[in-house]
Amino acid sequence: MCVGYADMKFKTWKTFAMSLVLIVFIVTVLSSCFTTRTVTTSSFVPSFRDREYSIISIGHATALIHCDSVNVLTDPNFNDWATIIHRSREAGLKLENLPPIDAIVISHAHRDHLDEWTLKQFPKDILVLISKGNGKYPRSWGFKNVREVDAWDSVVIRGVTIVATPAQHSGSRNLPSADEPKALGYIVKGEKTIYFAGDTGLFDGFKEIGDRAAIDVALLPIGAYRPRWYMKDHHMSPEDAVKAMAMLKARNMIPIHWGSFRMALDGLDEPKNVLLELVKNDSLRERVRVLENGEKYLMK
Ligand SMILES: [Zn+2]
Ligand SMILES: [Zn+2]
Repeated sequence: MCVGYADMKFKTWKTFAMSLVLIVFIVTVLSSCFTTRTVTTSSFVPSFRDREYSIISIGHATALIHCDSVNVLTDPNFNDWATIIHRSREAGLKLENLPPIDAIVISHAHRDHLDEWTLKQFPKDILVLISKGNGKYPRSWGFKNVREVDAWDSVVIRGVTIVATPAQHSGSRNLPSADEPKALGYIVKGEKTIYFAGDTGLFDGFKEIGDRAAIDVALLPIGAYRPRWYMKDHHMSPEDAVKAMAMLKARNMIPIHWGSFRMALDGLDEPKNVLLELVKNDSLRERVRVLENGEKYLMK
């Protein structure tokens, strides 16, 4: 009798929570369609000096990491839509202006990170690294050089090592399930070390990542963090990203996953503004670098 009542109560709360999430999602999607679009100049054609280490923000979780002569593209999304969410700010580069890409790294299969249309614009023999269990998607789109990786697996390209790292996030394309693939981040290591976190909540794994690599720049997600009661395990807030930076012992941080697609209750620029406010009177201010789409960070 008591168990039945508790069960019923649990189901009622679960239904209530799911309905709330659905309402939040619908409001977010509708508001994304009415957000003023900011057009950035995307005619920028990147060029690189000898032995240059740099990062160009393309928008959302898409960044071009240039390590000496090796170009790594993270979670490429140049699409105008992330499923039904309209892009609010143009990608920082046009696809045709990208340099030759040596590897595409995919953190997980959510549609804002693994965009089918975008991936199909690349040559079918390009190296795609993706978490174990998610390789079936790029393979089904005709990609022949797909490597499924687990945390701490690595690949070396002309002296630059790419290492997969753990993350705290659902790795599946659709609904979460008990046996879903894991989400990953990646370390790109040459003479300097860049860490791309993908999508993640704040978790203890950052300490291990920081112990294993001396990170010069960490690309950490700060957007889609509200409502906190639902998002906190899946997406970091700006406050969480500052904590993660300390756990990672990262020298510098570039926030990602903000400003291009409005995916949750936080506004487009809210995560960036909250982050800047958090570090404004701190020595961290010099080490946190906000990049607009199309802006380059040259590592020294
Ligand atoms: Zn995700
Ligand atoms: Zn995401």
